[in-house]
Amino acid sequence: MSIRRIYPFTDPLLRRRAQPIERVDKTLQPLIDDMVATMRAADGMGLAAPQVGVSARLFVAELDDEVYVFINPRVIAASAETEAADEGCLSLPGYRGLVERPARVTVRGKNRRGKERTIEAEGALARCFQHEIDHLDGILYTDRMAPDARLRPADDDEDADDAPLAARG
Ligand code: ZN
Repeated sequence: MSIRRIYPFTDPLLRRRAQPIERVDKTLQPLIDDMVATMRAADGMGLAAPQVGVSARLFVAELDDEVYVFINPRVIAASAETEAADEGCLSLPGYRGLVERPARVTVRGKNRRGKERTIEAEGALARCFQHEIDHLDGILYTDRMAPDARLRPADDDEDADDAPLAARG
């Protein structure tokens, strides 16, 4: 298992639509293990394969001691109700920005054993899943910020109205 280099926002790979994964087999496992290790080392909640330089529709996430691995994930349902919260990205360290997204999503995809599964998520997990799936489509969270919203330093806690950093991935 090794920690991989995280590609920055400026890398063109982060702007490309990632390739579907045709087969889930043991050759994929080292990448998944490396991504979990890299996410933890960077203190992130999620990490998508393009962020480590691999054009593949795969992301990992971790919340409350549960690790999620999604291969070829897709959002099959999203709530009309939205929520605004701060997001950060391991590919743009040191910054955060307010992003409005559906409050609840249902995500379907394969796990690391190749088994299809569906997870309904809300709160930080729903936000994280959407942020990571965006990465697979070449979309960055700054694209989803309101036009008048601005990036702020990640440790900017002076304004009491600031939303807590809900997801970093
Ligand atoms: Zn990100």
